[in-house]
Amino acid sequence: MRILDVLLAVLYPPSCAHCRRPLRRAGAARLCPPCRRSLGAIVAPCARCAEPGAAPVCETCASRPPAFRRAFALFPYRDGGVLAEALTRWKYHRRADVGAALVRLFAEEAPLLPSCYDLVVPVPLHPSKLGRRGFNQAGLLARGLCRARPETGRLAPTALRRRRTGVQARLARPGRRANVRGAFRAPGDLTGARVLLIDDVLTTGATVDACARELRRARAAAVDVLVLARTPRPESRR
Ligand SMILES: [Zn+2]
Ligand SMILES: [Zn+2]
Repeated sequence: MRILDVLLAVLYPPSCAHCRRPLRRAGAARLCPPCRRSLGAIVAPCARCAEPGAAPVCETCASRPPAFRRAFALFPYRDGGVLAEALTRWKYHRRADVGAALVRLFAEEAPLLPSCYDLVVPVPLHPSKLGRRGFNQAGLLARGLCRARPETGRLAPTALRRRRTGVQARLARPGRRANVRGAFRAPGDLTGARVLLIDDVLTTGATVDACARELRRARAAAVDVLVLARTPRPESRR
């Protein structure tokens, strides 16, 4: 350990990024064992969209296959859970330390993907949100992944652009699909590229589907999706 690291460790002893409990051993993700365990795992996901409990393929994907080949999700998203709270702190309270912990967690837990990709492309943030927030969480996750695992593919942060449309979270599901249609633009020629699309949370899948559609239109050979967290579909919450 360098002198500076020793000093920093004395001044700022490692603590859990979520509950602030002191950590004996600072894992890459900086979560204490109980918080880490509480993240849980996705059980029996749909092979296309990673919807928990929908294996082998959910009804939606069976009746209307998405434009992406398959989605990988690292953790289930639970309202009020450690991950949901951490994402809120990062995105809405601008807690960069929590963001850094999530980026490390993402890079550390990214599954050994079955194939390598040519391009790693983050879902672009709506321009009005980017202005307010000052950063794109999907962009930071993609950058962290490419730094930790350069073999995944080349980071292509501007391969997709976003047009100005209404803000997604306020809309119900049918509105979301219509809203995201045409929201993205891939300005370049992606002929033959295998693309890994990155986002923080996959909810209805409408956003990543619209992105994948646009990437395919720009002649990408295949698009897979990797997200930090996957919600159950809104219908299955009722
Ligand atoms: Zn903790
Ligand atoms: Zn599905």
